[in-house]
Amino acid sequence: MAKPTRALICGLGASGLAAARLLRAEGARVLVVDERDTPALRERAELVRALGGEVVLGASQAPSGEFDLAVASPGLDIDDAMLRGIHARGIPLVSELELGWSRFRGRTLAVTGSNGKSTVVKALAEILTLGGAAAVPCGNYGLPVAQAVLEHPQAAWLVIEVSSFQLETCAAFRPDIALMVNLQPNHLDRHGSMAVYARLKARLFQHQRAGDVALVPGDWLARFQEWSGGAGTWRTFGTADDDDYACRAGGVGGEGIEVSLAGTWLDNAVLGPNMAGLVGAAAAAGVPADIIERGLRSLTPLPHRAQVVAERGGVRWVNDSKATNLAAMMASIRMQNRPIWLIAGGRAKETDFAAAAETLREWARGVLLIGEATEAMRAAWGQVVPCWNCDTLETAVREARAMARPGDCILLAPACTSYDQFASYVERGDAFARLAADGKTAQE
Ligand code: ADP
Repeated sequence: MAKPTRALICGLGASGLAAARLLRAEGARVLVVDERDTPALRERAELVRALGGEVVLGASQAPSGEFDLAVASPGLDIDDAMLRGIHARGIPLVSELELGWSRFRGRTLAVTGSNGKSTVVKALAEILTLGGAAAVPCGNYGLPVAQAVLEHPQAAWLVIEVSSFQLETCAAFRPDIALMVNLQPNHLDRHGSMAVYARLKARLFQHQRAGDVALVPGDWLARFQEWSGGAGTWRTFGTADDDDYACRAGGVGGEGIEVSLAGTWLDNAVLGPNMAGLVGAAAAAGVPADIIERGLRSLTPLPHRAQVVAERGGVRWVNDSKATNLAAMMASIRMQNRPIWLIAGGRAKETDFAAAAETLREWARGVLLIGEATEAMRAAWGQVVPCWNCDTLETAVREARAMARPGDCILLAPACTSYDQFASYVERGDAFARLAADGKTAQE
């Protein structure tokens, strides 16, 4: 991508700021616009102005004037009026991810999927670095890509977490290794249907060429090859014997490699398949099996992802505030392998919760419902498991604490975003962890 002379950046989030920094460092004239106008954005606007860029907050449409490049924030919908206006004027529109990547001279490993990406990205960056090739985690996890490139120009690898939103505005992105960890319903409120969402994910592989490596779950291989037309070397992973990398109880094997996960938190039916993809990606990057195994054995879970935050009176408290869709919630329940008091609800991204009924029947002693999704969840699950309307997290925790018995798990896995009651999933998870640490179980 050529260096622009005059660039428009849409959205002043962390990635918009990073794009402004990179483009100013290259000498481009930069205008950043954002439709919001908040105290936090005004502070960020000052940072851009200090770099010599211009900022317009509270902008409802794209500014007039000549631009030879526009950069889209991942938070903006491709159907957003501003982006459509830019497209109609023929201004090339790229994601911040692609801008950053286009300036990087090292190699790139890109990870997409519905659930478990951040954990895989963190693990891969640690494993590559352990293997002697400095790797920087970035994209949706870690630094914005443009910032990673500015701050770590000498890194051997970028390990980029790529969301479906960013793939909407990728035109030429070509990772050396591309991994799709899994594909389950997510963000369908924005993408409309599973078919649209799945095809967007396939774009990750579209520009790959001979010598690049493409890793997908075995049952998606044919469709992803067809949709993307990617010309990398395709590899599969999963639980089937004929997958190139297969997980089974105790570890992952494939292409002359054995990695033992026995006794680790990764050795279960949910995270195991993710690990098979991860091992395939690390092997493609040239990391030997013993280093992969060492990296995975020392891997710690990320906060707010199936994180044990308290064990008291025989009751385990697990914070999976990041489980913001139904598939992640179900996976989270299955990972615990013990009776569950589930705290769920918030602002729903999906409308049909019925798919979880069987999992709840098998594992849940009761469901404590909070937030906007309460009625929809009660309607879907009320026949198979006792459900209580608790409204707030505090009440849900109090009720769960009173009912839980030794051997049970109190699990926050809301299957919803937090935005009706909290600023973010982090705030929600922190509140749960505080409540879990504060209180006493019925036995104490
Ligand atoms: P992402 O970056 O894709 O959101 P995270 O590593 O932050 O992924 O994990 C998000 C959620 O996905 C967590 O709640 C985790 O328990 C769940 N999860 C991880 N692996 C899977 C899987 N294979 N299927 C469903 N959910 C999963």
